[in-house]
Amino acid sequence: MTEQYDYDLFVIGAGSGGVRAARMAATSGAKVAIAEEKYLGGTCVNVGCVPKKLMVYASHYSDEFEEAKGFGWELGESRFNWSTLIDHKNKEIERLNGIYKQLLENAGVNIIFGRARLVSANSIELNNKIITAKKILITVGATPSVPEFPGSEHVISSDQVFFLDKLPETIVIVGGGYIAVEFAGIMNGLGVDTHLVYRGDKLLKNFDQPSAQFAANEMQKKGVNIHYSTNITSIEKQTNSDLVCQLDTGETLCADQVMYATGRKSLTTDLGIEKVGLNTRNNATIETNDQFQTSIPSIYALGDVIGTPELTPVATAQAMVFVNQQYGDGSKSISYDNIPTAIFSQPNIGTVGLSEEALKAKGTPIDVYQSEFKHLKHTLSGSEERVLMRMLIEKDTQKVVGMHMVGPDAGELIQGFAVAVKAELTKDQFDATIGIHPTMAEEFVTLRELSYSF
Ligand code: NDP
Repeated sequence: MTEQYDYDLFVIGAGSGGVRAARMAATSGAKVAIAEEKYLGGTCVNVGCVPKKLMVYASHYSDEFEEAKGFGWELGESRFNWSTLIDHKNKEIERLNGIYKQLLENAGVNIIFGRARLVSANSIELNNKIITAKKILITVGATPSVPEFPGSEHVISSDQVFFLDKLPETIVIVGGGYIAVEFAGIMNGLGVDTHLVYRGDKLLKNFDQPSAQFAANEMQKKGVNIHYSTNITSIEKQTNSDLVCQLDTGETLCADQVMYATGRKSLTTDLGIEKVGLNTRNNATIETNDQFQTSIPSIYALGDVIGTPELTPVATAQAMVFVNQQYGDGSKSISYDNIPTAIFSQPNIGTVGLSEEALKAKGTPIDVYQSEFKHLKHTLSGSEERVLMRMLIEKDTQKVVGMHMVGPDAGELIQGFAVAVKAELTKDQFDATIGIHPTMAEEFVTLRELSYSF
């Protein structure tokens, strides 16, 4: 370490990216501290991916109890207890917070709780002390962004939904992206009368549209009420606590909770950004180069705060590259092409590569192979749910450039195929792979008939 600084690296924000960077840098021999104001593990562990997925599991049981009957199971009356789920979820998150603490401490990282603010290119103010560091890494992430309108003070976001005292009877969820669609499935599965209010006419507008529309249709079949081309103009709270939403269609919707999932904004306020003169973009994300270096050479940033895809595995991959570049052999870099992702809607949407719309915009000639079918399980379960699997092939090279699936465990399945898409394998190589029977996944290696081209 250069003796003139307290630390080699000072990380602000102990979310997925910050914790990974701090741990790996310390393991590489750097003297590292990390500051956290709220909770270890950030959004993903506390109010994001992990508790969300636990709730998705919880909400699936209603379907599974029904489906079990077709397989001969005779079950008694089932009841759901929200408080039990929240208690168990909270305990699991506490356990994970502890694991994060242990991982950091075992790596030799000094954890400091409190709000850190930049003071200069090499110093931070934290708990009324000035701390110096050779390098500073900003990994403060993002927070839900809710528009302001009359009555907006009554709405909740994904930060609060994990801690509600009771399960609502009726919920209005606003938005048409990841969070809105996932929570519509969770609430509907838990028996809540669920209304999804979306300003556009197609959900998940950045996803492969044939897949997104197929998923929206499946969600409607399961009971989610989707209100397209609709905005809430005001919300009034009644004396019995009911929330009456005035819609711009002239109708009203009454619910006991209204949740906004209308995107996230980076947490760059009150961080000293202006004081040190760090360059930010119009949407408040921090500008960085390929080495995650900001406009001030000793200050770096990564994760949601820099405006790259807001996904935990992207932040942790960036952290690995950052540490390799700063404290390793510098051989690693990151590519944002072909990032696989899943929406844990019901059914799931799994995707890697480009959508039909993106490929049309590029003008690349494409062959589409697709299959829509009833999952073997549902031949007995009585469920009407259907599966869609789509493969988009570049006509000239026969490379698989997009794979999209709507169906159970699509996230699990697409993760494996993402390696093949990343490796730029061709349709022939998929066809030469022998399937595993009977699975849904085998469909991706047995798609023989061209569906259409564009
Ligand atoms: P998204 O950006 O996915 O979606 C935001 C939605 O809100 C869009 O449909 C948008 O409409 C709509 N919207 C934006 N502003 C308004 C407004 N003022 N009034 C009405 N509607 C509005 O954001 P999310 O909040 O759903 O999620 C944030 C990010 O978190 C995601 O982008 C994703 O990266 C990450 N995430 C990942 C998950 C996963 O990996 N499974 C799960 C959850 C989150 P329009 O389409 O018209 O712009």
